[in-house]
Amino acid sequence: MKIKMKVTIIGGGVIGLCSAYYLQQEGHEITVIDRGDITDGCSFGNMGYISPSHFIPLASPGIISEGFKHMLSSSSPFYIKPRLNWQLMQWGYHFWKNSNAATVKKNAPHLNDLLQLSRHLINNMRDEIGDVFEMEEKGCLMMCKQQKTLDHEFHLADEAEKFGLTVERLQKDAVQQLEPDVELNVAGAVLFKDDCHFNPGKMMVALKKYLETKNVRFQLNTTVTGFEKANNKISAVITDKGKFNTGEIVLSPGSWLPALAKMMGISLLLQPGKGYSHTYAQVEKNIRYPAILVDGRCAVTPWGQSLRIGGTMELSGINQNILISRMKGIYDSAKDFYPGLKIDFPPAGKIWSGLRPVTPDGLPYIGKAANIDNVLIAGGHAMLGISMGTGTGKLVSEIIQRKTTTINISAFDPERF
Ligand SMILES: Cc1cc2nc3c(=O)[nH]c(=O)nc-3n(C[C@H](O)[C@H](O)[C@H](O)COP(=O)(O)OP(=O)(O)OC[C@H]3O[C@@H](n4cnc5c(N)ncnc54)[C@H](O)[C@@H]3O)c2cc1C
Repeated sequence: MKIKMKVTIIGGGVIGLCSAYYLQQEGHEITVIDRGDITDGCSFGNMGYISPSHFIPLASPGIISEGFKHMLSSSSPFYIKPRLNWQLMQWGYHFWKNSNAATVKKNAPHLNDLLQLSRHLINNMRDEIGDVFEMEEKGCLMMCKQQKTLDHEFHLADEAEKFGLTVERLQKDAVQQLEPDVELNVAGAVLFKDDCHFNPGKMMVALKKYLETKNVRFQLNTTVTGFEKANNKISAVITDKGKFNTGEIVLSPGSWLPALAKMMGISLLLQPGKGYSHTYAQVEKNIRYPAILVDGRCAVTPWGQSLRIGGTMELSGINQNILISRMKGIYDSAKDFYPGLKIDFPPAGKIWSGLRPVTPDGLPYIGKAANIDNVLIAGGHAMLGISMGTGTGKLVSEIIQRKTTTINISAFDPERF
């Protein structure tokens, strides 16, 4: 006999909603609490890639020196605001410690497992909730301007093939053939054919609507401010709208994970990594393929006539301040790679920003809290929350039901630092 559990999910971003999706399939009683109304946030304005191609964790060899090189420029794609902050220093120390070839070799297969699982599950989810979020399965281009960058991408393509991914190595003319309407200024590209993309805002809206029809309860505009504990369990969630009794808790508040975990007495290392984007509603002669502009360190995603450009990783704490010069860096890169693209620099009020939840080793946190029986932590997906949302949701559902998980989750232990 199935036991029906009362599950409270804190945070209705892509991780919270995907967790609700798999838990409702098992007939549990679910409430999602979010301090907003789930119409904006990191899960909405991102680039919308599902990227099995991104099996190399963010903490990897060369990233530190690359970061320092870029930090001196105001339009750079990477920035750490220097400040005396103990959390940031601890995070930085562990990020540095994990940015080596041996750790990458150890962690990449785990990232790959979760990415591949999620890639498979997103098709099932689309079939179930309806094809209303402009999903296209044509792959993603890693576009390179410099031959040196292209050589490196070709090398990564070899690694990708070892993980079973399908890739095409393209020289300039072959890439241009994929984009017949827009002049390109690149040396070449790798097309990762297993990648796909969709409109993440539309996906979030569709998923929330679907969950409502399945009796998932949404307690919106409600901020969690604390917890009540009894016998190694959280007995109630305290919010600005009152107290909620609960059975199981899924903690998925994105970049606010350390703050909420701390209220439970759990210490987690995570930094918000701010990124920017702008969406053009109508582009005359639009590009056809989503692409990461590798040496430009930004990305472009087309959906029919519309186009999103985005990027940057700014470690400046929790804030939504927009630095126009960083958006300028993204815009200039897009124009540099696609000189024929007719887009203007966006007005300040139309620039979106979102906070990626970044762990020190580039792997997410997925697993039970060590000393609290009814809390499961799901977060820290950094640049890959959309890519790993479905797989994470499935794992969350399996862990809560004490089932054997589809993939090995030992590397995602939330209390590994
Ligand atoms: C520019 C940019 C481009 C990106 N592109 C991609 C991409 O192409 N592919 C990809 O896979 N990923 C991408 N990402 C990363 C992806 O967007 C994130 O990994 C993902 O959105 C994180 O989801 P989340 O559910 O963990 O957090 P969030 O989406 O931040 O959701 C957390 C929720 O918790 C709520 N919350 C927080 N605190 C409280 C509280 N106290 N009480 C109640 N509710 C609370 C918030 O309101 C929020 O709704 C990109 C990110 C950026 C910034």
